[in-house]
Amino acid sequence: MVATGSAMTLSPGFLDELRARTSLSTLIGRSVPLRKAGREFKGCCPFHKETSPSFIVNDEKGFYHCFGCGAHGDAIRFLTETRGLSFMDAVRELADQAGMRIPNAEPEKHTARPQIAGESLLLGKKGGAKLNRSETVTVRLDPKLNYLCELAARAQRRTKSSFIEWAVADALRSVSLPEVVETEDFGSEREVSIQEKASQLWHVDESDRVAALALTAPALLTHEEQLIWRLIRENGYLWRGRYDKQGEWSWTIGEGNLVKERLRENWDIFKEVALGERPKEDLPGWSKSLLDDDVPF
Ligand SMILES: [Zn+2]
Repeated sequence: MVATGSAMTLSPGFLDELRARTSLSTLIGRSVPLRKAGREFKGCCPFHKETSPSFIVNDEKGFYHCFGCGAHGDAIRFLTETRGLSFMDAVRELADQAGMRIPNAEPEKHTARPQIAGESLLLGKKGGAKLNRSETVTVRLDPKLNYLCELAARAQRRTKSSFIEWAVADALRSVSLPEVVETEDFGSEREVSIQEKASQLWHVDESDRVAALALTAPALLTHEEQLIWRLIRENGYLWRGRYDKQGEWSWTIGEGNLVKERLRENWDIFKEVALGERPKEDLPGWSKSLLDDDVPF
């Protein structure tokens, strides 16, 4: 989490633009059934129990108001009140949806917005790789879609490229991840979108990305990534574990047990062995003595 102090750096202009670019009825409509009533939307208030709607949402003015309980606020307030997000997290989520960048926000690893990926996530970029602000992707659009896209960009007063980026991020919400294997999540039956898991799936280092994907949605691993992951699973040097009764090192495959620094350090070796470019003997080995010296867990 970024310290709340960074809220100070957000200019009123930025927040105004964020509110202007956010469709409040769309945002609230995701959790509260709303019906259009004149220039406003109406629904049952999410802040108090009621059967006849006294909660209104005004897109033009960017606020919601409840005539029953007096609840009142804007998009940011709605997220902090209903989801318990901090101010900055709410801003970050809205900015993400609006395709806006938070000025001066530190590029924090775990909250960084997903970049549009290049052709292959497996090419280049190892340990602490330099991260460009964006990556160029060639998109082919048919002429009609291209034109409509141009108009949409004009309507939102942004560049076409920024519009496409926003549209992709928005579309990621409606693509579910297959086989989400995480169990700590409440409501495990629920379908989880790629966007919801963005902060868990996206990491600067390729090794972290592949591990996160393998542990979250293994069905999405490419064939190459599967080969690498198999070597990783089998390698006790990379996992926290314990000695079993026979004195053998044993470990359970799971997010908390992977020693990510070690995987990062040895990533190229694992990759090359998996692709048959290097002998298996080059992989880091593990022995009781090594683990005793080296592993404080
Ligand atoms: Zn109310």
